[in-house]
Amino acid sequence: MAKRLLEHKIGEFFIEEEPFYIPLGKEIEMFEKAFKSKLPVMLKGPTGCGKTRFLQYMAYCLKRPLITVACHEDLTTSDLVGRYLLKGSETVWTDGPLTTAVKIGAICYLDEVVEARKDTTVVIHPLTDDRRVLPIEKKGEIITAPDEFMLVVSYNPGYQTFLKDLKQSTKQRFIAMDFDYPKPELEQQILIRESGVDNATAGKLIELAQKIRNLKNRGLEEGVSTRLLIYAGQLIVNGIDVMEAVRAAMIKPITDDAAMQMSLEEIAVSIF
Ligand code: ADP
Repeated sequence: MAKRLLEHKIGEFFIEEEPFYIPLGKEIEMFEKAFKSKLPVMLKGPTGCGKTRFLQYMAYCLKRPLITVACHEDLTTSDLVGRYLLKGSETVWTDGPLTTAVKIGAICYLDEVVEARKDTTVVIHPLTDDRRVLPIEKKGEIITAPDEFMLVVSYNPGYQTFLKDLKQSTKQRFIAMDFDYPKPELEQQILIRESGVDNATAGKLIELAQKIRNLKNRGLEEGVSTRLLIYAGQLIVNGIDVMEAVRAAMIKPITDDAAMQMSLEEIAVSIF
């Protein structure tokens, strides 16, 4: 029964269709080698630049289920490992996503791991050294991860402050792969494919994105993401006026500062 349940769970997390992914460099080969060598991986880079899509693509290629956990400041070890829950008059153990991933040999993706509570290192550390074990303290159990299990975390170095950063003792357990916005030619292809916007408009959206990204650290905390570019394209394809779409998807989400919004608007007007 337990085995059937696990098999059912594996199916749930498989990616059936090949995700659209344009390689940016040698990241595919590097990831395959890390998987083979049973090494945990850290994907570093700004939000919306393709880290999650890359991982979906790799999970598909490696034929492994993918379990994603969006980390947040209240995420505890129990949220990852599992807990006893009251079902009627009985208390029943329920596996958390990390335990499920270890049991089914999945790729477990802890997105924005720096957000999680510090006590989660209690389970991240033993899984990321050569022990590759998951301690389930509440059950007094230790599970050894199968060879196919892989832990992947994402981390945006741009956001980290002195108060919130990963400890060296955690960072130095992962191999790190850098991600950034795709080169303009590639980003244009991605934008066209993902939003359906025409080539000329895509070119102008990319030009605007480049100019906005140049303002990072000069009034902008972060550049505009590939994700937001795709949103702008989708709005335009669905009949929204180009400047309206640019305002809604590429200007307002990235800054609340009225003067900065005006400057970005001027840049956009000069392009469109
Ligand atoms: P992140 O995980 O870095 O926040 P995502 O992986 O969600 O970002 O990327 C946002 C979107 O950008 C994706 O949904 C996808 O449409 C697109 N994208 C980014 N990079 C690529 C790429 N190299 N190939 C295909 N699509 C990409």
